[in-house]
Amino acid sequence: MAYQAIRGTRDILPGEVQEWQFVEDMFRDVCRRYCYAEIRTPVFEQTELFVRSVGEESDIVRKEMYTFEDRGGRSLTLRAEGTAPVVRAYIQHNLQGQAGRLVKLYYIVPIYRYDRPQKGRLREHHQVGIEAIGSSDPAVDAEIIDLALTFWRDIGIPDCRVMLNSVGCPECWPTYRERLHTFLADKIGETCADCQRRYETNIRRILDCKNEKCRQLTENAPKQVEYLCAECREHFDEVQSALKAMDIAYELDPRIVRGLDYYTKTAFEIVHSALGAQDSIGGGGRYDGLVADCGGKPTPGVGAGLGMERALLVREALGVTAQRDEARACFIASIGDEARQRAVGLTADLRRAGLPVDMARDGKSLRSQLREADTRGFRYSAILGEDELARGVVALRCMNTGEQREVAMDALARELMAGQGSDQ
Ligand SMILES: [Zn+2]
Ligand SMILES: [Zn+2]
Repeated sequence: MAYQAIRGTRDILPGEVQEWQFVEDMFRDVCRRYCYAEIRTPVFEQTELFVRSVGEESDIVRKEMYTFEDRGGRSLTLRAEGTAPVVRAYIQHNLQGQAGRLVKLYYIVPIYRYDRPQKGRLREHHQVGIEAIGSSDPAVDAEIIDLALTFWRDIGIPDCRVMLNSVGCPECWPTYRERLHTFLADKIGETCADCQRRYETNIRRILDCKNEKCRQLTENAPKQVEYLCAECREHFDEVQSALKAMDIAYELDPRIVRGLDYYTKTAFEIVHSALGAQDSIGGGGRYDGLVADCGGKPTPGVGAGLGMERALLVREALGVTAQRDEARACFIASIGDEARQRAVGLTADLRRAGLPVDMARDGKSLRSQLREADTRGFRYSAILGEDELARGVVALRCMNTGEQREVAMDALARELMAGQGSDQ
């Protein structure tokens, strides 16, 4: 009985890992330019952290968390979303330093959710994310959106759309909730079962239900942006001014409410047409109450999470792929025991000199050694037989052209270095 990767998880194999590394490298580079520093948090946390922050009534807490009891009887949960662990670490390590300092962090992490596995939404999926904690400046919200778009553009996805909304604050949300309640009162019987429950527990989420009937029923629903308090109104206007100052196009969309309880004011999603109906490839927003909810001093924050698998799907759909690795430099082929011993030393020397080099194992014929060099993508083979060994040279063969010439063994590293730089 062969073991299999667990349903909803997958292996990332050597042939595809280049894509992952490319996208991760680009994300790190964008974060460096925007002055965000990486943070790495453990893969599991106290269950309570997610329940408090994400909200008891959220889909995540109700039915998607990987929660288990450890041997000490504690309830632990695998990272169910990206922001709460970062906020927990921010509070625990007192990262804010002096009051008023803005702390900018990024992460590249796996996320665990017990959801129905579908394309681009696995039970173990990967997210890159950014969090800016310690400022209520609307320009920071805009910076987060700009960073996300720059990242997508840099990985070959330039034509993303930004869908923007404000979900208000504890000041203005209750008024809007009342309006929404009243508006839906005579319609709720016709909505899906999920929405009927949401009507009492999480009414805002009825707006982003994907069910066609529910969408029709909420077509003319009152909009949160029409009920913002003065502070939220001003903040929302200034986010839009900052986006305009950066030449970023956006569309106002009252259905962008995000699934998590902690959002306040700005909420946004980034969409791309390549993925059809399920076109959100990332999103985020402001969470001014979250640090206090998690036990810290009241501190504003804003962030975004972007799905790696979705980014890769869009790249695939658009036919964008990472450049193949440059050819490996050199494969050492040898004939006879003595030459083989010398080849072991030569291989080690070249690797220490910084070149990607390998050699044949298990005593194959020269013919099959050269075939191996070819199929594994080596640019050169250095052939070492008794005659070459005696004269201190190798026969250096270009795998593309089949041309062969002699090179002194002690000049080989220099020769390969030069070859690496040219004919790319
Ligand atoms: Zn407000
Ligand atoms: Zn519904």
